[in-house]
Amino acid sequence: MEVARRIPECREAVTTARGRGELVGCVPTMGAFHAGHLSLMRRARAECGFVVVTVFVNPTQFGPGEDYQSYPRDFERDRSLAEAEGADLVFHPPAEEMYPGGAATTIHVSGLADVMCGPYRPGHFDGVATVVSKLLNITTPDRAYFGEKDYQQLVVIRRMVADLDIPVEIIACPTVREDSGLALSSRNLHLSAEEMAAAPALQRALAAGADVVRRGGAAGQAEDAVRAVLAAVPAFRLQYAEARRPDTLERDEVPGPPLVIAAAAYLGKTRLIDNVIVHEDSRR
Ligand code: AMP
Repeated sequence: MEVARRIPECREAVTTARGRGELVGCVPTMGAFHAGHLSLMRRARAECGFVVVTVFVNPTQFGPGEDYQSYPRDFERDRSLAEAEGADLVFHPPAEEMYPGGAATTIHVSGLADVMCGPYRPGHFDGVATVVSKLLNITTPDRAYFGEKDYQQLVVIRRMVADLDIPVEIIACPTVREDSGLALSSRNLHLSAEEMAAAPALQRALAAGADVVRRGGAAGQAEDAVRAVLAAVPAFRLQYAEARRPDTLERDEVPGPPLVIAAAAYLGKTRLIDNVIVHEDSRR
């Protein structure tokens, strides 16, 4: 497995693989790997001849006062985990390589970036869309793999790729969870033992909302169900709980699926997000 820290090295490795006729798969990440990241790599490995994993903690998607400095970083561990998953290339650029002299161009996906997490993290999805477009331009994959855990991010990226005619297929991968139901996240490393014990309530709350939808409930009723479960867990400070149409993130009160029910909540100083997708065919 090769490690590239510079853009030209990364391009050269991908060009060589493509010259051999390999299908190229890309897994963009911020590192601090857990089984969720590894599931994306495994899927890419199964489907593509050449797998590039990018590891870059992107400063432009963190707001002032957010956890850019304290975001967990352990490149040596990540490198060996990516290698064990059979990645061919890890692209791990320093920030100066990605933003030499700053950056004047920003991508904003209107509408989709302005709801749910959008108002609570101003500029976050602009940072994500911009860095993902750069990573796709640098690694030029045939397929790029993203987790449903960050559902809004997935929808924003799909729309950006469609609007900008970026020639890549976006593959959505299911959320990997602990046995407790807690969605794996690099930020779980910041949770204390007590917070870890409380954390699965977020998924339980979303599951309660999903049940309401499966029984024919509408968005508002599902959201009430999520809030009711979390209100019983004082450790949680809920930011939002919203049920929206999975493709457009539009909100309406037409009862029943398909809906994505998503929430963000603080547990101590750690902000957790999670979602449950209720598909069209899952009515009870
Ligand atoms: P991150 O390093 O947090 O930026 O995540 C990199 C990729 O891994 C994103 O596409 C995430 O959606 C995905 N991911 C993060 N957590 C999970 C999880 N628990 N299950 C599946 N995918 C995940």
